[in-house]
Amino acid sequence: MTKKTIFLLVFLITSIIINAQNTVIKAGHFFDARNGKILENQIIIVQNGKIKEVGTNLNYDKTDSIIDLSNSWVLPGLMDCHVHITSNYPHRNVQMEKKFVGESTSLRAIRGTVVAKEFLDNGFTTIKEIGNDANYATADIIKAINKGWVQGPTIIYAGKIIAPYGGQSSGVNPEHEHFWNFEYIDADTPDEIKKAVRKNIYYGATVIKLVSEDNGIYNEEDIKAAVDEAKKYDIKVTVHVQGGIAATNVISGGAAGIEHGFGLSNEQLQLMKEKGIFLVGTDFSYDNWYAYGMDSETATALNNMLIDRLKRAYKIGTPMAFGTDIIVNLPELNRVQSSLKVLETWKAAEIPASYILQTMTIKSAELLGIDNERGILEPNYYADIIAVENNPLKDIEAIKTVYFVMKEGEIIRNDKK
Ligand SMILES: [Zn+2]
Repeated sequence: MTKKTIFLLVFLITSIIINAQNTVIKAGHFFDARNGKILENQIIIVQNGKIKEVGTNLNYDKTDSIIDLSNSWVLPGLMDCHVHITSNYPHRNVQMEKKFVGESTSLRAIRGTVVAKEFLDNGFTTIKEIGNDANYATADIIKAINKGWVQGPTIIYAGKIIAPYGGQSSGVNPEHEHFWNFEYIDADTPDEIKKAVRKNIYYGATVIKLVSEDNGIYNEEDIKAAVDEAKKYDIKVTVHVQGGIAATNVISGGAAGIEHGFGLSNEQLQLMKEKGIFLVGTDFSYDNWYAYGMDSETATALNNMLIDRLKRAYKIGTPMAFGTDIIVNLPELNRVQSSLKVLETWKAAEIPASYILQTMTIKSAELLGIDNERGILEPNYYADIIAVENNPLKDIEAIKTVYFVMKEGEIIRNDKK
């Protein structure tokens, strides 16, 4: 062979290899998460795990692998900003202390890998694991996913929950004083809080979660200590809090998010809007409350309270990210199906489906600090892409009809091949 022939051959092989890396998705109906609108007949070109181009009439090569989703609704991978993948409690029998003692970190990690895969298979390509995972079980789940041992979503991880002395335990006798430290770090001063933040980051945390309820509340200086310390590592702080002075301290302390916030006043929701603090509302449906062991009357009252809070937050314009917080599976339903019961609350609050989808994509990405790489389908973003059978703007419950999932360019699921 002459040099020229060799050169041509190498060129040909190289171009085949490069072109073969491209995947072309024909998206019949495409959710533009930035604008909350459906665009028709878009083409998405995926290369090396990322989106290369999106648009109509794009040129692509005959050797590219084509995925035909022209009869489907194509969306960015969904995000759930409040999950506990390693925890699971029996229906109407939530006894946290009993589980904390009875289940090892390894058992929790094994459960967590199963639940993480469930989230991925059902269209959630990113989750925020918010603590209660024994002795940093999720840190190892993340390692296993990164090594390719198991498939799972991108996990933003809180490590152990930082709380006033006692964590969220109650009624523990002094002989068993520290058993809650399996799940919580006791931190009662700004210095202890800073140390707890550093400890979590050392063990793999990428977000910090405080609890300001149950055994005491944090003041503004406490919250600031966590925020300042975490900021040094470019990490955000989110706080489990319901309302009242505890929530005011969280807002003025500069946290990035409030988890739950069931009792937030309009004034607090307004302040959150002004400061860009996200609400992760964990808006349990009646069935979710009932599953936790509430009687019907209490479950109805709590659900009505959440419908009202969601309506007020939407009207005021408080930034919101989608979060579910389900640790009790409903009869016959898996974790994700049980989690998506919260959509009944969003629907009852009459929140538009396009907005709900934005809370599950672009807005979650913003809260999680990954909005320059995930949450929308635009060039240079990771190819976290899902498809559902029915129009989710007509009825948000259509997101339960996921049949195609792509994670960073890899096809996780395609039921209609
Ligand atoms: Zn939770």
